[in-house]
Amino acid sequence: MSTTPSYSNTQLFIDNTWRATSRTLPVANPATEIEIGRVSMADTADLDEAAAASLRGFKTWRRVPAFERGALMRHAAQLMRERAEDIAVTMTLEQGKPLAESRAETLASADVIEWFAEEARRTYGRVIPSRVNIVRQIVMLEPVGPVAAFTPWNFPINQAVRKIAAALAAGCSVVLKGPEETPASCAALVRAFSDAGLPAGVLNLVFGVPAEISNHLIAHPTIRKISFTGSTAVGKLLAAKAGEHMKRATMELGGHAPALVFADSDVPRAARLLAAAKYRNAGQVCISPTRFIVEHSVCDEFMEHFVVAAQTIHVGNGLHDGVQMGALANARRLHAMEQLVADAVAQGATIATGGKRREREGYFFEPTLLIDVPPSARIMNEEPFGPIAAVSTFSTYDEAIGEANRLPFGLAAYAYTCSAATMASLGDDIESGMISINHHGLGIPETPFGGIKDSGYGSEGGSEALEAYLNTKFVSEHR
Ligand code: NAD
Repeated sequence: MSTTPSYSNTQLFIDNTWRATSRTLPVANPATEIEIGRVSMADTADLDEAAAASLRGFKTWRRVPAFERGALMRHAAQLMRERAEDIAVTMTLEQGKPLAESRAETLASADVIEWFAEEARRTYGRVIPSRVNIVRQIVMLEPVGPVAAFTPWNFPINQAVRKIAAALAAGCSVVLKGPEETPASCAALVRAFSDAGLPAGVLNLVFGVPAEISNHLIAHPTIRKISFTGSTAVGKLLAAKAGEHMKRATMELGGHAPALVFADSDVPRAARLLAAAKYRNAGQVCISPTRFIVEHSVCDEFMEHFVVAAQTIHVGNGLHDGVQMGALANARRLHAMEQLVADAVAQGATIATGGKRREREGYFFEPTLLIDVPPSARIMNEEPFGPIAAVSTFSTYDEAIGEANRLPFGLAAYAYTCSAATMASLGDDIESGMISINHHGLGIPETPFGGIKDSGYGSEGGSEALEAYLNTKFVSEHR
């Protein structure tokens, strides 16, 4: 692509109206570090209006039959598909990921919307046999009410659509605080729902100072449910605040996914698939494999294949043809990568490949593999959220499980083995919300998605995701 495509400023969306504000934040292209636009910032009055609009929207939307809600949502999905090419360019400009990944994320949002549009029609209650014939006992599921949702910059559409689609399917309204660093693609998602005919106030979008917005909205009496995706540290703060105000909450937080490679697996295949998963979105993925725990006897073979895979990744501006890994989304991640590598090396690790930023403009960091990394190294304990793989070895199954379960996180885990017995044991023994064995099969709309331990609670996939937005009401009728 020879000329830089255009990029629009992003406004707030409150009560079906796009609203520019006097206070704005810059949005930069991570591949060039150049400002490409601005995003409007909400003040307290904007937030109060968004909350009030969401209450009006809720009163309307909860009465719309699930069949009609689903039809409108399918229309929004169709619009996302039709607009995918333009939205993908916007996403790559502001987030840095390769165009193919931006396109896939945009198209995948349509799948998520359609899944929840269908699930809306299956929010079944039940009738419980009563102890006497003249009493009828009914269990009804009702939408919880207006939702405050907070989503990050790594998947500007995917993280938002999981919350929006589930909430709307259940009959809830939403005030979404989108990601300030990647606002325009998130706004394109909101626009698709608005263009599909969503009634005023049902979906509102704000940006600004994250802590100001979450403090205000979580405490706001109108808001009945909180959903957050981001770091464990911030998630704990928001969960505490939600608890203080007795608000239901879903927390999709950080992980540090172990990837176990057993000697009986197809090692070259494991290395190739794990490297592809590791460097997707430059490693800025909550379910990215991060701790590679490899059986000692095949570690050299694994590393040989992994290094080849890492070194053949074409790193560059995500808009350019053939690029497989773009820039990191912001300067914070770049500095974090440099610090994690320096710490690991100081503690005795060896850099098998990569290990440094690219000497050019943009937040580029090389696909990196660290070997002989001691458990005390920061990278073995803190979520790297970047293109660094750290390898350690094991000799027994129990040792592998011990290392996999060592950390307080429990989001995703991966394993490669040809033994059916080992697969069955892994399913029982790994402490995580999700485990994918011999392939990378997480994150599709119809399957549960969420963590345990410090990785949070609640699910953002499968029918479980809808439950998060529903209250149970028991009605006992005496005829
Ligand atoms: P951060 O913790 O400051 O922000 C993470 C996200 O939380 C951002 O979207 C931010 O806007 C939001 N946020 C921060 N403080 C908030 C508050 N008080 N109220 C509401 N929202 C708030 O850090 P960061 O530098 O953006 O990212 C660093 C770490 O966050 C990463 O290393 C990673 O562990 C985690 N993260 C996780 C995900 C995920 O998909 N689970 C996504 C992005 C970042």
